[in-house]
Amino acid sequence: MHELSIAMGIVDAALEEAQRRGVQVSAVHLRLGALSGVVKDALMFSYEVACQDTPLEGSQLIVEDVAVIVFCSQCRETRTLPSVQLFQCPECGTPTMDVRQGKELEVFALEVREDPVEEHEVQESEVQE
Ligand SMILES: [Zn+2]
Repeated sequence: MHELSIAMGIVDAALEEAQRRGVQVSAVHLRLGALSGVVKDALMFSYEVACQDTPLEGSQLIVEDVAVIVFCSQCRETRTLPSVQLFQCPECGTPTMDVRQGKELEVFALEVREDPVEEHEVQESEVQE
């Protein structure tokens, strides 16, 4: 399944980041473009599967849908496509393939919590020279 390998990639990246910062990930925020070729429901399901038996188990995947924006050479404006079936300007009907947004598949934020277990009290010893 296509979405499973993507989900595993997301989980891997989040785990790496969490390890580097010494935190627990409670949620992953993802931007998902309408042209990314990824089925959102399948990705949500795959994420849960990919999190199993990792420190991310129980964390949430929060998906922000990104609409397709094209540039119309006639209007000289960017336009939001009402449908990904029809690549033409919704205002003037000029066909366009100049996609400016909508292929996103990117993690843009991690919600983390400091792991209290990791907390250790380090007494700074005063060194006087
Ligand atoms: Zn136009």
